[in-house]
Amino acid sequence: MNHIKYCQCVKCGATYAPAPDITTCECGGILDVIYDYETIKTKFNKEVLAKRDDPTMWRYRELLPIEEDTVPAGLRVGMSPLYEAANIARDLGVKRLYIKDDGVNPTASLKDRASAMAVTKAIEAGYDTIACSSTGNAASSLAGNAAKAGLKTYIFVPARAPKGKIAQLMMFGANLTAVDGSYEETFELSKAAIDKYGWYNRNAAINPYLSEGKKTVAHEICEQLHFEAPDFVAVSVGDGCTIAGVYKGLYDMYMVGLIDRIPRIISVQAQGCCPINTAVMTDTPWQPQEENTFADSIAVGVPRNPDKAVGAIKNSGGICVNVTDDEIREAQQYLAKNAGVFGEPAGVTATAGLMKLSREGKLPKDAVIVSIVTGNGLKDIESAIKAVGEPMHCKNDLAEFEKKFGLSR
Ligand SMILES: *Cc1c(COP(=O)(O)O)cnc(C)c1O
Ligand SMILES: [Zn+2]
Repeated sequence: MNHIKYCQCVKCGATYAPAPDITTCECGGILDVIYDYETIKTKFNKEVLAKRDDPTMWRYRELLPIEEDTVPAGLRVGMSPLYEAANIARDLGVKRLYIKDDGVNPTASLKDRASAMAVTKAIEAGYDTIACSSTGNAASSLAGNAAKAGLKTYIFVPARAPKGKIAQLMMFGANLTAVDGSYEETFELSKAAIDKYGWYNRNAAINPYLSEGKKTVAHEICEQLHFEAPDFVAVSVGDGCTIAGVYKGLYDMYMVGLIDRIPRIISVQAQGCCPINTAVMTDTPWQPQEENTFADSIAVGVPRNPDKAVGAIKNSGGICVNVTDDEIREAQQYLAKNAGVFGEPAGVTATAGLMKLSREGKLPKDAVIVSIVTGNGLKDIESAIKAVGEPMHCKNDLAEFEKKFGLSR
């Protein structure tokens, strides 16, 4: 027995039994997985965790939607490093700053947490084929985790997806479709194909278990900080599943009594595509926007999980901030040079948001902050080279080398 009470629609409140292939509510609303925290508390605590040597996301299995005898499928996901960066804290004018580098996951993004969960649930449900549409990382992580788990994949990405992600998809043997159109159109085609062929659906938000995988990033942050809740957790937002997962993981930890308050979540979007932040900042229903940013993973004009995302921001007393592409580029180099963490554009967007809030004097001096890096910079080399330029060239000639670096002795 797992510890799920039921799945509940975030729109109308209807409840459903937690079948492993459940999708959305009859009303179209997204489902949330509701746990029996009272029972979980009796067997899950700091001591139990301290003795557990499983260095993966599955170390929190009492809080995860899998059966007790389910063997997790997929790659070795989770327990990514949480680096303290005192130099960055100084620059931002805050007490402590941590970088949670989820780009070190096996296919190099936080999406591995959702995909490992997806292949595990697909196998629980008895499927042999799994499908999704994605801006790129959900796709490449699904392809990798499915390859490990022995599942077939049908995957749809917008043709604009960076080459690194396409290369991963081809290598992992996905049945890949690069859609000539926006992410919105990509999603529509995947939906039509999945509806027709009945594959296991790993589409963001539609499948309620994906956020449950993603939430383990927040479980880890709590454990890595010895259950001292930070004041803020900053994260970049596209469809809204990641921020929803971050909130859910913090909520879990609060409900089982491992942290004493829920940190405020900082939602960072690109100025050129910020439907969720706009909805919160103007307190109006979200509206579709153009996908006008080079941060491809968060170029989501029609977010699939706006209700949960808005809930995560509001329920945590969160902050919204939008950043320009130039600010994202600046943060990318800053983080690489000052922390040794090379993130893709959407991966460093949370840090760009913190840099902006700091400049605007909106970060309290005594704040302890975690910034999540959601994807690795090697995914998108073209953008990176554009930002940093070409390397210095030199013949095999010491004098020329010294001249170019202004060295002498
Ligand atoms: C998917 C993704 C995000 C945003 O997650 P959503 O669930 O779409 O909000 C941020 N950064 C990276 C690198 C991603 O791949
Ligand atoms: Zn409903």
